[in-house]
Amino acid sequence: MRVDLLSHTPDGEKLIAAAAKLCYSKSGVADLLEDMTDDAASGFLSMLTEIGHVSPVEHVTLTFGVEGVSRSLTHQLVRHRLASYSQQSQRYVKLDAFEYIVPPAIIEDPDLADIFTRSMQEQQAAYDQLVEGLLPKNTQKYLQRGFSEKEAKARAEKDSLEDARYVFPNACETKIIFTMNVRSLLHFITLRTCNRAQWEIRGLALEVHRLAAEAFPVLFQNAGPRCLHGPCPEGRMSCGRQEEVRAFFAERRQAHA
Ligand SMILES: Cc1cc2nc3c(=O)[nH]c(=O)nc-3n(C[C@H](O)[C@H](O)[C@H](O)COP(=O)(O)OP(=O)(O)OC[C@H]3O[C@@H](n4cnc5c(N)ncnc54)[C@H](O)[C@@H]3O)c2cc1C
Repeated sequence: MRVDLLSHTPDGEKLIAAAAKLCYSKSGVADLLEDMTDDAASGFLSMLTEIGHVSPVEHVTLTFGVEGVSRSLTHQLVRHRLASYSQQSQRYVKLDAFEYIVPPAIIEDPDLADIFTRSMQEQQAAYDQLVEGLLPKNTQKYLQRGFSEKEAKARAEKDSLEDARYVFPNACETKIIFTMNVRSLLHFITLRTCNRAQWEIRGLALEVHRLAAEAFPVLFQNAGPRCLHGPCPEGRMSCGRQEEVRAFFAERRQAHA
């Protein structure tokens, strides 16, 4: 998995502090921004968190590029509705040798890894055969509609890829760019860094948290699963490793302090 922080709102912490201060101040916007020092911004953000005034953090967004993850992961990621996504399309991109993600528990067992690899090869072969099988009749369809041979072939290829891709598995590698504002990202980190989250999206959430905390140490200093700040809400499904989780995030906080 490769995760990059591609872009974020410049001077985000100052911007949020100024936006929040505006609610309680007679000053104009320009003056508030100009007078906002790093220390003042930091103090203001801590105060906002304490009183639960969280809407000003929505002014700042972060954009991440993610590669080398499965469609299983992105299916879970896009359930987070307060975000923007752009994902590589299987309708337009022909996968001549599709890449796939193998779960660690399968990689470490040679027999299981072999079953997995064979299954991927079979699906690649089925995809190739389906594309080949669909192309002539799709081309014919467009020729009958009066398209030139070149245009008919191009359109037929797209239609064929679109249908053949149905055989691809959840393991199929994909690439996605997503943008979230800080409020939405904090929610994502809370849910998906929990030990109850699925291993792959948890890996993504931990990396996203690390990068976000590097860019905005104050905003993300308390981010993490719910058990950092109270009892575990998972009931009998709890991982029971609250102390370990707290120690891990405390170490991260120190690294970004
Ligand atoms: C451990 C775990 C297991 C899961 N298992 C399953 C599963 O088995 N099946 C499954 O389908 N999903 C599952 N999910 C996904 C989960 O149900 C959510 O869809 C996902 O976590 C996104 O959360 P969200 O809706 O809070 O986030 P967002 O979509 O980002 O929304 C953020 C917040 O905005 C508010 N909001 C957004 N849209 C609405 C709306 N339409 N109406 C009212 N308020 C809204 C809510 O307060 C919401 O919490 C699982 C998630 C986790 C973390």
